[in-house]
Amino acid sequence: MSTRRTRQLEVIWDVLKDEMSHPTADQIYERVRREIPNISLGTVYRNLQKLAADGKVQILNIDRTQHFDPISNKHPHFICESCGKVYDVTLDRREEAEPLLSPDTGFTVTSHQLSLYGTCETCS
Ligand SMILES: [Zn+2]
Ligand SMILES: [Zn+2]
Repeated sequence: MSTRRTRQLEVIWDVLKDEMSHPTADQIYERVRREIPNISLGTVYRNLQKLAADGKVQILNIDRTQHFDPISNKHPHFICESCGKVYDVTLDRREEAEPLLSPDTGFTVTSHQLSLYGTCETCS
């Protein structure tokens, strides 16, 4: 990997790592461009996929849009139906949803993702 490509990946990670708003590729691109003005959206997108493949970020598919989350372990989210913002949710362990399957044969659960929908503080 060339130094230029390493720098691109580093800047993208720096933009994302402290970001709690679960930005889209477009939003990350806008911020990365302040550091690297000539970077393309395609390059940002490819680097984001690489970070996801390396397990550093999690991709959330919400309303057919990819949102990027620097917390790579599974955690619940709250999605505002008014402004579309995505928030992390902390749930009491006992309240965490466990999937119940019925019928209980022939199904293999590989993952589950809990999402809460509603209106955020700003939009209420
Ligand atoms: Zn909102
Ligand atoms: Zn999150």
